[in-house]
This record gives sequence, C-alpha cells and structure tokens, in this order.
Amino acid sequence: KASMSPNEKFKISRDDIIVGGILGEGFFGEVHSGVYKTQTGEKLSVAIKTCKNCSADVMEKFLSEAGVMKNLDHPHIVRLIGVVEVDPVWIVMELYQLGELGNYLLEQQYTLATTTLLLYCLQICKALAYLEGLNMVHRDIAVRNILVATPQCVKLGDFGLSRYIEEEEYYTASASRLPIKWMAPESINFRRFTTASDVWMFGVCVWEIFSTAQQPFFWLDNCQVIDQLESGVRLPKPQLCPPTLYSLMSSCWSYEPNSRPKFSHLACSFSEIHRMESEQ
Ligand code: ADP
Repeated sequence: KASMSPNEKFKISRDDIIVGGILGEGFFGEVHSGVYKTQTGEKLSVAIKTCKNCSADVMEKFLSEAGVMKNLDHPHIVRLIGVVEVDPVWIVMELYQLGELGNYLLEQQYTLATTTLLLYCLQICKALAYLEGLNMVHRDIAVRNILVATPQCVKLGDFGLSRYIEEEEYYTASASRLPIKWMAPESINFRRFTTASDVWMFGVCVWEIFSTAQQPFFWLDNCQVIDQLESGVRLPKPQLCPPTLYSLMSSCWSYEPNSRPKFSHLACSFSEIHRMESEQ
C-alpha cells in the first residue's frame, strides 16, 4: 500500500461497512458507529460521518477534513480509516468509545487524578507539536474536539477548520462560527491564525481540562472578551491546577504572539510537570 497515493489508499467500499446507531450530530450530518471489515478480514469499530444536504460545494467542504487527515499519522490524533467517495459520501474514522473529552470530564469529575489531567494535556501538546512541524494550524483546539480512546489516551480531532500554512504566513478566516472565548487577540481582531494562536487556544484548552470542562469566560459575553484581554485580564487559576502549570498556561496567553512558547518546548515542560506530579 505504500506506493499508492493517499487518495487511493483511503478509498473504501460501502459493502465493507455495517452501520450502527447514532453517536451524535456533526456539522454536516449524523455521525454513526459501525464496523468496518478490512482487506485482511479484520473487523474495526468505526465512526461514520455522513453529509445531509451534500451539494457539490458542501461536499467539497465536508471532504476537506478527510483530505487533511489523510496526511496525518500520530498516536494522539484521530485516525482516518477511509472515505466512501460514491454518493452518499461517508468519512470513516477509528471509533473512540468514551466520546468527547468535555463530557467525559463532567462524568468523571471526582475520579480523575491531577496526573491523568496532566497526561491528557501532554498528549494533546505532543499532537500539536507534530502539527507545528508540518506547518499546520488547527484553529479549533477545545475539549469538545478531543475524543477519549481509553481512560489513559485522548485524541485530537475535528480538522474541519485546519489549514496548512507556509512559514510566516497566516490563514485569514472568513467563517462566522468562530469560538471567540478560545481565541487569541489577533484572531479576534484580525482573523489571524498561526501556530502561535494555536498555542493560545491550547492554553485555554488546558484551562478547560483543569476546570471540569467549564466554558472559559462563562461569566462574560463574547463581545466583552476582547476588551478584557486587551486590558490584560486572563482566565484565573483553576482550583485543581498546580502553580507551575498555571504559569505555563499563562505563558501561552502573552499578548504578543512571538512571545508565546513553541509546542515542542511546551511538550517538554508538560512532560516534566507530569513526571514531578507522578512522583509525589
Ligand atoms: P463535526 O466536526 O462535523 O461537527 P463532530 O466531529 O463534532 O462533527 O462529531 C459529532 C459527534 O460525533 C461528536 O460529538 C462525537 O460525540 C461523535 N464522534 C465523532 N467522531 C467520533 C469518533 N471517531 N469516535 C467516537 N465518537 C465520535
């Protein structure tokens, strides 16, 4: 299979899929669980994304996420299994039984140790360091876009907004569905999205993880957020969050994008904090 183009490699037949119940509602349509029988006869549990009103231009947007995922291979990024390219088009991904991290944090709030929360942060940080190396910007890092594979393993998903960027370049968004409370000031003000704005969002996502998935700035309206950020206000330290971790997430919220740490550097710091907490 190594010699095949990514498009060939991920082309699958509907006949090899058994569709099960509905897992949730996606932006384009229902997401079902299912089983996929591979070429070698192996049976894989999968999630199947469907596209409801799939006109040609909607289909192009629907498939853009799969197009990005074809080029990604990381233990903490949602794995694409394949695409059924014949109408009705389906995107088939590996199934993560425990669902969205946001819901999982709420359900398990009294049972998750600080070291487990740190492990999730470290895993997502490693996934983002990998994307940083590919010059890829995710643009929607939040616990609603992370899936739980096992109690000790999470996966970054939802590449619907992600884009490749050239070095020093940035992506100017036009979409109106922007997650203001997670966004860096330059993203709110100028729709400027870079790896540095992903670092800001990751800091907010770490805050969510340590705040049992409360909404960041839930005490503010979207339109009040930018004024607060401009005057230097930042998210407060969550109760469960060790001080070393709070200073690390605060460094992700430097107003100046160039002053924020790189994901590769953050991954080392998280690894260190995780190790120290594990030894206590
Ligand atoms: P979209 O990004 O198109 O809005 P989502 O990725 O949010 O769609 O998927 C909708 C729902 O389906 C999610 O809330 C999640 O619960 C479920 N889901 C999506 N992908 C998977 C997966 N790989 N494993 C388990 N559940 C999934």
